[in-house]
This record gives sequence, C-alpha cells and structure tokens, in this order.
Amino acid sequence: MTTELPATGTTALASQAAQVLRRLALDEELKWRVPDDQVLGPLARKVARRFVAGESLTDALERAQRILADGHRVNVEYMGESCRDPQRATTETAVFLDAARLLPHGCSISLDLSHIGLAVDEELALANASRIAAATAETGREMVISAEGSDRTDAVLAVHRTLCERFDHVGITVQARLHRTSEDLRELLARPGRIRLVKGAFLEPQTIAYAREDPALAAAYVDYAEQLADSGHPCSFATHDWDLIHRIDHHLGGKGHETAPWEFETLLGLGPDRLDVMAGHGHPTREYVVFGTEWWLYVCNRLAEDPQRLLQALVDAAST
Ligand SMILES: Cc1cc2nc3c(=O)[nH]c(=O)nc-3n(C[C@H](O)[C@H](O)[C@H](O)COP(=O)(O)OP(=O)(O)OC[C@H]3O[C@@H](n4cnc5c(N)ncnc54)[C@H](O)[C@@H]3O)c2cc1C
Repeated sequence: MTTELPATGTTALASQAAQVLRRLALDEELKWRVPDDQVLGPLARKVARRFVAGESLTDALERAQRILADGHRVNVEYMGESCRDPQRATTETAVFLDAARLLPHGCSISLDLSHIGLAVDEELALANASRIAAATAETGREMVISAEGSDRTDAVLAVHRTLCERFDHVGITVQARLHRTSEDLRELLARPGRIRLVKGAFLEPQTIAYAREDPALAAAYVDYAEQLADSGHPCSFATHDWDLIHRIDHHLGGKGHETAPWEFETLLGLGPDRLDVMAGHGHPTREYVVFGTEWWLYVCNRLAEDPQRLLQALVDAAST
C-alpha cells in the first residue's frame, strides 16, 4: 500500500524489512507455493513452529490444556484468510464448529471473517459466522472476530453488527493504529461482546493509520485501553508491549480479580512472561493459540514485528 515514517541506519533497514514482510504476508501466491515447495516448505515450517501450535485441532487442544493448567485462559484460532471459494469457506467453517464442540471450558474461538466467506460476499460470511456463533453459544464459549486489512473493516463491522442482533457473546477486534478506531469504538461500546484492542498488524497508508514507530500509536492505544477499562465493557488488552501493559495495569490500580471484565492477552509463545506477571496482579489472562496449515500470513506478520525474530527464524530454519 505505502511506505511508513523514514528512519536512519539499521532502524531504517529493519523498518524496510518489516514492510517487505508485511507485503509478503498478503501475497496469496506465496502463501500456497512456499509451504508446498519441496525445498522452501520444510525450512519455512521450522520457522513457523515457534509461533503455531501445529497443523491440526488436536495439536491446538493439547496446547490449550497445558496453558489452562498454567492458570491462563485460552483463545484458539484456526488460521486462514482471503478464501475465495464459497464451497471451501463453508468446509472451513466446519473446523470451527468442531472446535466449539471439543475445546475445554476456558477457551474462546477467534476467526478471520475472510476465512469463512467475506472474500466472496458479506452474506456468506454472515451465514457461516452465524453457524459458529450458534455453536459457541450452545457450548458456552466466547467468539471473537479478528481485525483484517482496512479495506475490509467496514464489512467486518457490518457482519458483527448483524450478529450482535442475535447473539451477545460475539466479540470484535479493533486496531489502535487506524484513525477510524476512535469513532468505531464509540459504536462498538454500545454492542455486546468483548472488544479486543490490538495495535494492528497490516501495512496501511499513513493517511489512515499511525506508523508502527509513531509515538502517537502508543498514546492512542493507552487512550482506547483506558476508555475500555473505565467502561466496564468486556475487553482484552492484546499486546506484548511491556510499556503499554504497565501503563494499563497502573490505570487499573495494579490489581485485578477473577471476574474482572478485562483481560490481558498475548500470542502463543510471545508473552508468557507478561501473562505470568499480570496473573500475579490478579488480572485475568489469556494466551492466543493458532493452528492450521495456512500459517504464511501469520508468521510473516510476527517476523515483521521484531528484527530479532528474523535472526531467530534463520537459526530455526537451520535447526534439525
Ligand atoms: C491476542 C492478540 C490478537 C491479535 N489479533 C490481531 C488482529 O485480529 N488483527 C491484527 O491486525 N493484529 C492482531 N494482533 C497483532 C497486533 O496487531 C500487533 O501486530 C502485535 O501484537 C504486535 O504489537 P504489540 O502491541 O504486541 O507490540 P510490539 O510493537 O510488537 O512491541 C512488543 C515488544 O517488542 C519489542 N519490539 C517491537 N519492535 C521492535 C523493534 N523494532 N526492535 C526491537 N524490539 C522491538 C519491544 O520490546 C516491545 O516492547 C493481535 C495481537 C494479539 C496479542
């Protein structure tokens, strides 16, 4: 889409590398070709296994049990997005229905609407999301819709609005980096369902989003987090950023309780230390477990977020 704030030296190189990775994340040809490639596939899989629970629901279930035993809640996402085949979008939905049935108590389910039909049309996404909402309602689990690129935000919010007319357990994810979020948040606070606050992983033009390095992004995140905390609305502070976590914890008085409407949430393996510290302060905590074969976009976005992870990826790719 566009480039972000200019920077200097190694910071500039890291920033450029991050943009390349975010662009690769959205490359739908590479997403299929790399995992299938005889040489690249096995190497990329070794890199991916640091971030994903495995390729099957059974792998996710096993990981979920371990996290629950450690005292954190779990969210499970079956990865995939931009599915343009209506038949496949509906078949993929069945995996979420299995997850709704099989996941232990304490697990919620997340999904990209474009995985289950939004890349075809809104009606299909709504029909499939309604089936998952009905299944999760029946088994007493929360369901949270992920945030995708800004070109899909209107459609994602529209499907969520319709789901909220029938269900009160369907949450939504908002991106602090998008300027529109201040308005969206006002509207979302009037709907039921958990609101997950993230910085936002996608490459976006500066006309509509803060750059990752812009201090205004952290300020916006804290502002929205405080609005959510003060509202009493179910919410999730989904970040690995220690500074933000400490500031939100401070705003919450440095202590939580089991039935608090908020939770601190981190991605699998990326913030267990953050979760342990916040759990120690009494806050509800949740780890986000991803599984499936469509890990390309997810892994590219994680590598883009921290230059250290790129070096780690090189080491992981060479491991046995
Ligand atoms: C539970 C959960 C759900 C999510 N769902 C979505 C979603 O639906 N849609 C979406 O778009 N995104 C989603 N994300 C991803 C999110 O948008 C961010 O891209 C991701 O979490 C990274 O941002 P961060 O807030 O964790 O902090 P970061 O900006 O990654 O910072 C975390 C830490 O990394 C280190 N760090 C960061 N940058 C550098 C650097 N350049 N050099 C050295 N160290 C660095 C710092 O120590 C910092 O404290 C989700 C994240 C979580 C945790």
